[in-house]
Amino acid sequence: MVRPLLASFAGRQFQLLIVGGGINGAGLARDAALRGIPTVLVEQNDFASGTSSKTSKLVHGGLRYLEQGRLSLVFEACRERSRLLRLAGHLVRPQQFLLPVYRGDPRPAWKIRAGLWLYDLLALGRRIAAHRMVSPRAAREREPQLQSEGLQGAALYSDAQMHDARLCLENILDAESLGAVCLNYVRVIGFLHRDGRIAGAALEDQFTRERVEVRAHAVVNTAGPWADAVSRLADQHAAPKLRPTRGIHLIVPRLNRSHPLFSSARQDGRMIFILPWGDYTLIGTTDTDDTQAPEEVAASAEEVDYLLREANRLFPEARLTRESVIMTYAGLRPLAAAAGQASSVSREHLIVEEPSGLITLLGGKFTTYRAMAEELLDVVIDRRGWTVTKRCETATRPLPGHGDRVALEQAGRAALGGTGLAAPAVIHLLETYGTRAVLMADLLRDHAELRERLCEHHPHIAAEVIHARRAEHAEHVSDWYFRRSWMAYSPCRGLDSLDKVMRLWENEGVAREALERQRQAYVEELERAMAWRQAAG
Ligand SMILES: Cc1cc2nc3c(=O)[nH]c(=O)nc-3n(C[C@H](O)[C@H](O)[C@H](O)COP(=O)(O)OP(=O)(O)OC[C@H]3O[C@@H](n4cnc5c(N)ncnc54)[C@H](O)[C@@H]3O)c2cc1C
Repeated sequence: MVRPLLASFAGRQFQLLIVGGGINGAGLARDAALRGIPTVLVEQNDFASGTSSKTSKLVHGGLRYLEQGRLSLVFEACRERSRLLRLAGHLVRPQQFLLPVYRGDPRPAWKIRAGLWLYDLLALGRRIAAHRMVSPRAAREREPQLQSEGLQGAALYSDAQMHDARLCLENILDAESLGAVCLNYVRVIGFLHRDGRIAGAALEDQFTRERVEVRAHAVVNTAGPWADAVSRLADQHAAPKLRPTRGIHLIVPRLNRSHPLFSSARQDGRMIFILPWGDYTLIGTTDTDDTQAPEEVAASAEEVDYLLREANRLFPEARLTRESVIMTYAGLRPLAAAAGQASSVSREHLIVEEPSGLITLLGGKFTTYRAMAEELLDVVIDRRGWTVTKRCETATRPLPGHGDRVALEQAGRAALGGTGLAAPAVIHLLETYGTRAVLMADLLRDHAELRERLCEHHPHIAAEVIHARRAEHAEHVSDWYFRRSWMAYSPCRGLDSLDKVMRLWENEGVAREALERQRQAYVEELERAMAWRQAAG
């Protein structure tokens, strides 16, 4: 994929301009392209580099929203979960969760049972499997390291896990295949107005600093936690509409045998997750008001200690310490402003049209992005009085890599056929790219050296790095390590393979000096993510 010159878009008239390439912008671009609306999406960094790659990786109804009485949110999320399982099966997978109940827990067994009964009911025939309660022994058979003292039983219920950044990327790739222009590393630095109404934007390429103006009949602000800053570009007096809350996650050596765990934290009664994540375990999350710039957000030592304490309570034999933490990440929830405790602020979304005509999306969950995009686009079409004959198709159109077993087997054969690629590598490619794995077949057949693994700690092979550059908008080595793969979130942090990746991209025409700058920026990004360790002393 050759990065187009920004100058080639100078003065272009689009119907829809989307600011922000997280999941909400990406979902909107895909929906708009499917309805035949000439669309441009710009993202100031990499696609999904904001909140959309900092999630708990759950496509879930949101069990804890039941407690807050937000039944319509749970209902909608269960419906979207079912759609994503059907339309993006390679990126969204069902999981059986374990919810242990201990003596003294803030939520007694009867409350958990009642909640799960309602959860199943709200899924209305779309549930993955009905919940059930099991004995302490049965719970420990499933997770032998689980704390036995005080264990009164456990609930088994179903939800789904996802690859967040890749789900966002596939929306972008599909939008592009349908004619939308999607540009990463292009920032909106100001808006154009006509008769006091927004009519386009000034854009800046973040690599070359080249600037152009494009025009659009409607501009939508899906900048997540940056939404207020983008609103202020349209009107410097725009009132803040967000109440961002920070959530952090830890990556530690694998604790779970197979089941993701959901449990009440002893310290404050919040629900926390302990999730299997490849060879590791993901522990999250927190919920703290945070008004700093979204790009500055990082885990604090107190938050790390809080999650370690709760994880050690559930898995005492693990004896996790700060040194056990492999990596941390933090993100800001772009929640709509409301009073009350951070963890009780509604996750429901809000669509606001400002006096300038800028339409801003606030709140919501990753799980419900498709439905939000549909509603948002309907609002834009209605407010602008557009005649659009095509109806929304995203509830039934699969994402690009999705395929049934037969399609995946065919893709596997195509990727394997004559390439000499070992079976585990083929499985890895299919699990990551679904049927899109075939796109690497020619590379693999023609270049034996691209079948090699990048390093001994990861299944990724060299061909993927080329593919990421050519076909998945990876412009910066960070894009590869943090979002096209998850190598950054591992003990080697990808540093073992950095020289190799840089060589591969140099062969693709990227200048050595640019790559050296990227190396430095990547290392600094890793250090920022773990800065709490220095602060903690
Ligand atoms: C800790 C945490 C855990 C979560 N876990 C889950 C979960 O498990 N399941 C779930 O369903 N939801 C979860 N969520 C919620 C979910 O992640 C968010 O609702 C969703 O990712 C928001 O997406 P977005 O596209 O609105 O924002 P973002 O992903 O932040 O995207 C906004 C984008 O706009 C870009 N941008 C900003 N300014 C400009 C500009 N001037 N020009 C161009 N681009 C610009 C930014 O760079 C950014 O990439 C979680 C959230 C957090 C914080």
